[in-house]
Amino acid sequence: MVPPRGEEGATWVRVALDVPLAGLFDYRAPAGARVGQRAIVPFGRREMVGIVIETPPAPALAVEQVKDVVQMLDDLPPFPDDWLKLAAFAADYYQRPLGEVMLPALPGPLRKPAAYQGQRAAGGPVARLDAKAARAAKPRRERRKKGVAADSEGVPTSEQSVPPPESLEATPATPLVSLPTLNAAQQEAVDALSGLSGFKPVLLHGVTGSGKTEVYLRVAERILREGRQVMLLVPEINLTPQLEQVFRRRLEAIAGTGGVAVLHSGLADGERLLAWLRAVRGQARVLLGTRLSLFTPLPDLGLIVVDEEHDPSYKQQEGLRYSARDLAIWRARDRGVPVILGSATPSLETWHHAQTGRYLLLSLPQRAMAAEPPRIRLLDTRNVKLQQGLAPPLLQAVAQRLESGEQSLIFLNRRGYAPVLHCDACGWVSGCPRCSAYMVLHRQPPRVPGGPGRHELRCHHCGWQQRVPMACPDCGNQDLQPMGRGTQRLEEHLGELFPGARVARIDADSTRRKGSAQELFARMHAGDIDILVGTQMVAKGHDFQNLGFVGVLNADAMLFSHDFRAPERLFAQLMQVAGRAGRAGTPAEVYIQTGYPEQPLYQALVRHDYAGFARYALRERESAGLPPFAFQALLTAEARELAQAQAFLAQARAWTEQPRADGTDSSQAADMSRITLYDPVPLRVVRVANVERAQLLVESDSRPALQGFLRAWAAVLPGLAATARVRWHLEVDPLEI
Ligand code: ADP
Ligand code: ZN
Ligand code: ZN
Repeated sequence: MVPPRGEEGATWVRVALDVPLAGLFDYRAPAGARVGQRAIVPFGRREMVGIVIETPPAPALAVEQVKDVVQMLDDLPPFPDDWLKLAAFAADYYQRPLGEVMLPALPGPLRKPAAYQGQRAAGGPVARLDAKAARAAKPRRERRKKGVAADSEGVPTSEQSVPPPESLEATPATPLVSLPTLNAAQQEAVDALSGLSGFKPVLLHGVTGSGKTEVYLRVAERILREGRQVMLLVPEINLTPQLEQVFRRRLEAIAGTGGVAVLHSGLADGERLLAWLRAVRGQARVLLGTRLSLFTPLPDLGLIVVDEEHDPSYKQQEGLRYSARDLAIWRARDRGVPVILGSATPSLETWHHAQTGRYLLLSLPQRAMAAEPPRIRLLDTRNVKLQQGLAPPLLQAVAQRLESGEQSLIFLNRRGYAPVLHCDACGWVSGCPRCSAYMVLHRQPPRVPGGPGRHELRCHHCGWQQRVPMACPDCGNQDLQPMGRGTQRLEEHLGELFPGARVARIDADSTRRKGSAQELFARMHAGDIDILVGTQMVAKGHDFQNLGFVGVLNADAMLFSHDFRAPERLFAQLMQVAGRAGRAGTPAEVYIQTGYPEQPLYQALVRHDYAGFARYALRERESAGLPPFAFQALLTAEARELAQAQAFLAQARAWTEQPRADGTDSSQAADMSRITLYDPVPLRVVRVANVERAQLLVESDSRPALQGFLRAWAAVLPGLAATARVRWHLEVDPLEI
């Protein structure tokens, strides 16, 4: 209960709230309120859950204006200091209000006042989960009587019956897992990692199948035996249930049943809360999860692993635009523990640090199992007649593998039937009415098996959909032509070219229904598919034992992208796709169709030479003054009209040119001599869903100078006159420009 105003024994609390306003908010709380505790507070006409950041001796505004806390929440101990520090660092580094960092990082129910209010609140979501677990632990008959089966939190019942592993010596519930004998390189890596004490970033560089996972497991096992917790970050879990199984099986043998908690965005609220709680309470000794797990408090953290550290999905693209990889390194430093970054194709930033000695480089040069690496060949498309976009040698390779009973994968990173529909008579193209982009032609699956598939136009930027017009909207021509090809059309062609073969497709369209991705992957593993057409979805995580051939189409599109990171991503993607093949011993082949076979990127790829590619790419970056030799931030503005977005950016830029006579503390202002602001430019796809977008790039050769500047800049941006008609956001270390 909050004591009435003026009474002794109240505490002033300064609270972070999930609102887009800088600063913290003061309230009056009952005596004993503590830093790190959550509180339900009134804000405007709403009530919100906030986190106490300070208990100041006096409020920042007049005492009469300070409102009372509605309810202090004590269903969890206060958040620990290191977690508060992590959030504070992220807020400062990425220029976001603290509350917008902290609260979205919590499982949903912990930040909703409604979860604590009303007759059915029963002490809040944590108490409800605990009560449910206690009921589940009771004998079966009693449970049935009480009808516990009604599962309002969406928690799978099997999870509830898991007893907390009080003892780390718990006998393994799973049968003993057979361990491979480490090869020399793996052993060296494990030894080096075991010898580390304190903070050290380590790059574990090795091609797919070189046994990196085995190294993570060995090191994790040792950390668990020391009684500490392990955080394992992966780019994606939903698609690769095998990965989860491997980690569970191996690590639960030490951490006890239920000792591995898994967190990702596909979980229901209750499931996520349960996994989070087990990690926070130290019941789970391993936290395996996607980028959002990075913000989970872990009392005994002893090791962080970031698998596939180069993967773009570690970067959040909305709200707090953070890099989980970068924050993992900060967190490891703060906690004084090692952090392992694993990749076959590290980001150039990470590779640069490994080359300059800031990170320890450990290499696994060979595949762990006897299989030879796939042979990569470039198919020069300049002087051959393509058949439906496919070069004759590629078709021959598919035919051969069909004959020998092996599978083929054709990789094309463009979904849909054709990227655009076109009128030969007048030049009309299928532009999106709401975006400055083409609508993609899609073939809808037939309603009844064997029936006709319908065609539809879809915008991949805004989601707009419409029927294919019967005739050209401009000239009435009835013969509209699809131009180019996407995965659906490729699937259709391959079906025609290889009538006896079982052709299937894995992309975002064919896997929309829940469980359908798993189904398709299972069919591929079972050998029920001869030719698989796929986008980057197939590149991640799955090893196909019987895959003998990989064909790659349309790679050149990425080679000449305007985005300076595109070649780095292309190299990683092609290495990854190539790595899917031939793991079981058959010598596999990869053919890449290109009009530019002499390009250094492709030449390095043929040699499986990541280091060679990185050397060349880093030289280019250095001479162009790009990351990792410079640090960047991007200010993006969106408005009804481009001019409004541009005007905002122009004002933002002009502020940096003003003399500091406007009362700004000049000691706060940055050293502008090291900051470059480019001209505001429209985005390449300038209009999306009738919103026009422009951006302004900021660059510096000094991280501290950039940070100093961004701090000052972020403080003035909300006050610029032109903000009235724009939405804007500031992104630090942007991945896409
Ligand atoms: P990566 O993580 O680098 O892709 P994995 O650790 O998954 O590689 O290893 C690939 C395969 O090789 C797995 O099936 C794994 O069990 C096996 N493996 C790993 N290390 C060894 C080893 N030393 N001897 C035999 N097989 C191994
Ligand atoms: Zn026309
Ligand atoms: Zn659109």
